[in-house]
Amino acid sequence: MKQASPRGLLSEVFGFDSFRPHQEEIVRAILDRQDAFVVMPTGGGKSLCYQLPAVIMPGTCMVISPLISLMKDQVDAASAMGLRASFLNSSLDAATRRDVRAQLVGGELDLIYVSPERFAMEEFVADLRRVALSFVAIDEAHCVSEWGHDFRPDYLNLARIVKEFPDVPVAAFTATATHRVQDDIVSRLGLRAPHLVRASFNRPNLLYKVVPKQRIDDQLLKFVQRHPGEPGIIYRTTRKSVEGTATKLCAKGIRARPYHAGLDADVRSGNQEAFNRDDIDVIVATIAFGMGIDKSNVRFVLHADLPKNVEGYYQETGRAGRDGEPAACQLFFGYGDIPKLRFFIDQAEDEDEKRRATRCLNDMVHYATVYACRRKQLLNYFGEAWPVAQVSGDPDGEGDTASCCDICSGDVERIDATRDAQILMSAIARTGQRFGVTHIVDVVTGSDTERIRKLRHSDVKTYGAGSDKDKHHWRAVMDNLLAQGLVQQVGEQYPVLQLTEAARDVLFKGTPVFVLKTRAPTKRKKTVVSSFDGFDEDLFDVLRGLRKQLASAQGVPPYVVFNDRTLHEMAARAPANTSEFSTLGGVGETKLARYGEAFLKAIADYTGQSDDALSSVRGKES
Ligand code: ADP
Ligand code: MG
Repeated sequence: MKQASPRGLLSEVFGFDSFRPHQEEIVRAILDRQDAFVVMPTGGGKSLCYQLPAVIMPGTCMVISPLISLMKDQVDAASAMGLRASFLNSSLDAATRRDVRAQLVGGELDLIYVSPERFAMEEFVADLRRVALSFVAIDEAHCVSEWGHDFRPDYLNLARIVKEFPDVPVAAFTATATHRVQDDIVSRLGLRAPHLVRASFNRPNLLYKVVPKQRIDDQLLKFVQRHPGEPGIIYRTTRKSVEGTATKLCAKGIRARPYHAGLDADVRSGNQEAFNRDDIDVIVATIAFGMGIDKSNVRFVLHADLPKNVEGYYQETGRAGRDGEPAACQLFFGYGDIPKLRFFIDQAEDEDEKRRATRCLNDMVHYATVYACRRKQLLNYFGEAWPVAQVSGDPDGEGDTASCCDICSGDVERIDATRDAQILMSAIARTGQRFGVTHIVDVVTGSDTERIRKLRHSDVKTYGAGSDKDKHHWRAVMDNLLAQGLVQQVGEQYPVLQLTEAARDVLFKGTPVFVLKTRAPTKRKKTVVSSFDGFDEDLFDVLRGLRKQLASAQGVPPYVVFNDRTLHEMAARAPANTSEFSTLGGVGETKLARYGEAFLKAIADYTGQSDDALSSVRGKES
C-alpha cells in the first residue's frame, strides 16, 4: 500500500502523465468502495483502473481473469511496473501454490490474479476469508453472460463473491458493447447499484479500410511486405485457408504461423506464444484467436474473408493498436464470400436464429459497400452517434480525415459507372440469367473459354464489350451492383446472377449508377508510422532489438518491457540522460531503474555513430 494520490501514482508507478478517458472516475469509484461496471473498448486501459486503486487501498485486490495463459503475462506486466502481484491457477506446482497462498494470507500482495474456477473450491474460499480483500476486479466480465460471444460456465461461480463477501466492493470490466449483455452481466454478478461507465467505442488510432478481394494471398503478401517486422493478425474463416495462407507467407520468407482450433493444443499455444514474444510477425488465425493475449503492439489486423457480423468484426479489429499508436484494420471484401456464409446460416434449425444471422450478415455487407465513413458506421452500430468531423477528437471540426478511414481520406472514390453497369446487366439478361460472376465477366471481357465456345456465348451482343478493362475491374463493378441490389445472387452452391426490378431503370432509362473504386496503395517510403514527430525508424529498430533481448532474458513478452508507444517516443526524442528518460510516457520508477541504463546506452551509441558519420562527411566536405 502506498500513501499517494491517484495522479501522483499515475506518473510515479505507471509513468503516464494523464488518465485516459474515464480512468480517473473509475479509480475514484473504487476508492469510494462502490461497485463498478465498466464497458470500455479493448486498449481503453482497463487494467490501470483496478491496478491503481489496488496499490492505494489497504489489503489485496483479487483479479478474476479467464485464461491461464494470459494470467502470467498480466502478472509479469504488473510486476515490471513494481506492483506486488502474483497468480494462482492449476498451472502452478504444489510448492509454488503454497508460497503464493502464504504471500496472500500474509498481506504481501497488491494484486492476486485467479481463475474463476477457484470459486468452486471450498478450500480456496475458506482461505480467502483469512485475507484482507480490498476489492474484487472481474476482467472480461462478459464471459458470465450466455448472450455474449465468450460464455464460460466457470464464470457463473462468480455470483458467489457478493454472497460470501458482502462487504467487499466488486468492479467488473468488459469490452463487449451490446446493452443486452451489459444488463445480463450486472444481474448475474449481483452488482449493487454499480457506478456505471460506458466509454466511447471510438478508437482514434485505428485506420479502417475496405479493399476489393481479388487474388487474396497475393494481396496479403503485398500488405505484409509493405509492413516489414510489424506484428499483425490475419483472420480467415476456415482452418484450411488459415493453413494455406500461413504456408504461402512462410514460403515468401514472412515469419508467419497458423492458429486454429484444429491444431494440437501444444502447437496452438506455442504459436500464440511465439507471436506474443515477437518471435514471429504474423499470426494467421480463425476467430478462435484473440482473447488470450494482451499484446499491445499489434500494428495491423486484416480480415481476408467476410466476417459474420459487425460486432465480431469490431472486437477483432480492436486487437490492433492497444498501445494507442497508429494501426491498420483492413477488410478484403468480395461478394463471393456471401453465398458461403448464407449456406451456413441456412443450416440452422431455428427460424429466428436464421433471421438474426441474416440481418447480421446484411449489416456487415452494408458496412463494406456503402459510401459512408467506416468509423461512423461502426460507432452507429453500437448506438453511438459520432459526427465525422469529430472523429479525430478535434473539437473544431476539422478532423484528421487521413487517419479516419479510406472513405474520408479519399482512397475510395465514387465514380459514374452507368455504362459498365449496363454492359454487365445486358450480358446477364442476354445469357438468360443462368450464370455466375465468373462466366459473365468472361463474356464481357471476350474470353475464349471452353464454356463460352460450347454455349456459343461469343455470339452474345455484349461479348467482348468490356475487353478494354481487366477482370478485376468487372468483378469490382459487379460487387457494387450486388451491394446496391441491382443484381442478385440466387441459389446457394452455384449461385447465378439475376437482374432485379431496379435494374430495368438502369438498362432502359439510363438511371445513373455510381460505384466505389479503391485507389491502389501508394508506395510510401516510411513503413512504420508513429504519432511522434521526428520519429527515427532506424533508432526504433535498434531499440526494438534491445527490448526483445531484455524481454527474452527475463522470460516476459517484449511489450511488458515497454510498449511501442514508449519506444516510438524514445526514437523521436532520443533522451540523453536519466531525467529526460523518466519523462517518457510509460516510464515509471521501477522501469526507469530496471531498463533506463540499457536503453540510454543504446541511444547514446546510436546517436554517437550518426554524429561520427556526420562529422566524417563534413570532414570530407571541408
Ligand atoms: P484493455 O484491458 O482495456 O484492453 P490495457 O489495460 O491492456 O487495455 O491497456 C492498453 C494499453 O494502454 C497498455 O499498453 C497501457 O500501458 C496503455 N495505457 C493505459 N492507461 C494509459 C494512460 N493513462 N496513458 C497512456 N497509456 C495508457
Ligand atoms: Mg484487458
